[in-house]
Amino acid sequence: MPERPRSQGAEGAARGSAPPIGGRVIVTGASRGIGAATARDLAARGYRVAGLSRSGTSAAGEAFRCDVTDAAALAATIAAIAARGPVVGLVNGAGAYHLTPSAELSAAEFEATIRLDATSVLVACRAVRPHLIAAGGGLIVNIGSFFEPLGVPGSLAYCAAKAAVGAMTRCLAAEWGRDGIRVLDVAPGYIETDLNRDYLADDRVRAALIRRIPARRIGTAEEVGRFVGMLFAGDFRFLTGATLTIDGGHGMIL
Ligand code: NDP
Repeated sequence: MPERPRSQGAEGAARGSAPPIGGRVIVTGASRGIGAATARDLAARGYRVAGLSRSGTSAAGEAFRCDVTDAAALAATIAAIAARGPVVGLVNGAGAYHLTPSAELSAAEFEATIRLDATSVLVACRAVRPHLIAAGGGLIVNIGSFFEPLGVPGSLAYCAAKAAVGAMTRCLAAEWGRDGIRVLDVAPGYIETDLNRDYLADDRVRAALIRRIPARRIGTAEEVGRFVGMLFAGDFRFLTGATLTIDGGHGMIL
């Protein structure tokens, strides 16, 4: 008699379904920009947001002061949040960008960028994993960048870090799918935030960029936050490991 296929019962059907409203979602970089907009959107959908930032402020929910480049502090903060109740999700939104020509890029600056934009993602994912498993599964959304597959002058460290975020997303999705954990990479294009406000203040730079973007504008943090919120609230249980680009079509233009 053939063996019965596994995971056809109720547990299999529920695996990877939308994280329950009311559960805690940890958002790093929740004080400003994309992380803040995501925190606000998730809170409006009924999730309990735990927002991390160096300033100790969060645009929504409870705020926690934490420098995500301090691996021990990041793991301890996630453990402290989980002690307050079930954690059903994580959004890795903390990050920064520095323009440095590669010929002048020191090993120290390269490593600092990797530590903030990539290593912190691994540390947070690893720290939250047992809590997501305890909650019956969950969703992790990493904020990557549409720079991930590109070669951008002056952006070697950032491109390398964001490419790593895409790769980590795929590897974690492959390893943790059996635990009911889905992992996604949301890769924004140009979004006006503190990260690039000075750069975009130059009218000629702004106009040149907009000419190249099929959507004919710069994006807003709110539309990325809304997209991430939709990924949490929707029943997308067959969606994992993917890099989802939200860039007004910028990245696919020759
Ligand atoms: P912002 O500068 O507006 O916000 C960055 C956030 O990260 C702030 O909340 C900041 O809070 C937090 N943060 C920075 N460093 C640390 C740290 N060491 N520890 C904890 N929190 C930290 O940037 P964006 O919102 O634009 O960027 C968010 C993410 O989106 C980044 O990963 C960025 O690479 C990515 N992205 C942005 C794009 C854009 O065009 N804006 C395009 C593609 C990707 P605080 O200062 O209080 O610590």
